[in-house]
Amino acid sequence: MKYRRLGNTGLKVSEISLGSWLTYGKSVEENLAEQTIHKAYELGINFFDSANVYERGEGERVMAQALKEYPRDSYVITTKAFWPMGDGPNDRGLSRKHVTEQVHASLKRMNLDYVDIFYCHRYDPETPVEETLRAIDDLIRQGKILYAGVSEWSAAQIEEAVRIADRRLLDRIVVNQPVYNMLNRYIEPEIIPTSQKHGIGQVVFSPLAQGVLTGKYKRGQVPTDSRASNESINMWITNMLNDDVLTKVEKLEGIAKELDITLPSLALAWILRQPNVASALIGASKPSQVEENVKAVEVVLSEDIINQIEEIL
Ligand code: NDP
Repeated sequence: MKYRRLGNTGLKVSEISLGSWLTYGKSVEENLAEQTIHKAYELGINFFDSANVYERGEGERVMAQALKEYPRDSYVITTKAFWPMGDGPNDRGLSRKHVTEQVHASLKRMNLDYVDIFYCHRYDPETPVEETLRAIDDLIRQGKILYAGVSEWSAAQIEEAVRIADRRLLDRIVVNQPVYNMLNRYIEPEIIPTSQKHGIGQVVFSPLAQGVLTGKYKRGQVPTDSRASNESINMWITNMLNDDVLTKVEKLEGIAKELDITLPSLALAWILRQPNVASALIGASKPSQVEENVKAVEVVLSEDIINQIEEIL
């Protein structure tokens, strides 16, 4: 495994990290989830992602439980809040009340004294950014959070957070968690340059486009044990499986074959070519997927290959 600094912080995170969305606490049986998380740790992954809303806390619980047998200082664990956790008017968003209560609830579920990173899971137009940043700052002073981040905030929203933190002498956000992969590059024009300017690192989710960039979805075929075979969630993936995307995937597979690597390795190494990316945040439903995906850290893509990929995309 290789490790990178998270933005301008002193925190080192593994180039490949593991998340629990749609997997642990739900579709992946707990014993297999535990084996997968253990495999990740054994392969040097030290960065584990969750959120209060993943299966209403079950994602957090299963992940934290699996990590319990390792020393707490050897891994970085995260959570998030924003999405509704109940029907009440204060059961959502980034108010001081909801953020504070959710951090406490997450710590309780995970049986932890602190989380390393707390993310604002989305921007909340109904709460002043200063209110959220002050609540987070207090939680940092109390030792319940070590670092703060945001997820899927625009460049302007990131600028706003930095400006307010600096003006009010509050802790800055140090990490952004957006989607980024070969099929979705929306962060390249504005979010990466803005983040770089402010020393904010990217931890990018769905780096394999939920499995599409493994090449396992062939024309008209959905493997029975895949995420896309799950009826309650398959529309996110099947919507991606159009002719344009499948043609790109086939061409990318050709490049991977030429390099004697797998398509996931090519897709993840392509992401890690970005110095502002601290970690590619994968999901995995079994240990063998983690084993396959971590191989990407050994792959360095030449300029010529990057140009060939650019032409395909
Ligand atoms: P990926 O793009 O890595 O997709 C992961 C899924 O692809 C796996 O669960 C598995 O699904 C399949 N897969 C992975 N590797 C392989 C392989 N080598 N061969 C075959 N299939 C493979 O990431 P996710 O979309 O799962 O997102 C990762 C994490 O990012 C989440 O767990 C979460 O922590 C975070 N996230 C954050 C969001 C946010 O709003 N901040 C939103 C979404 C995710 P299967 O075997 O079931 O087909």
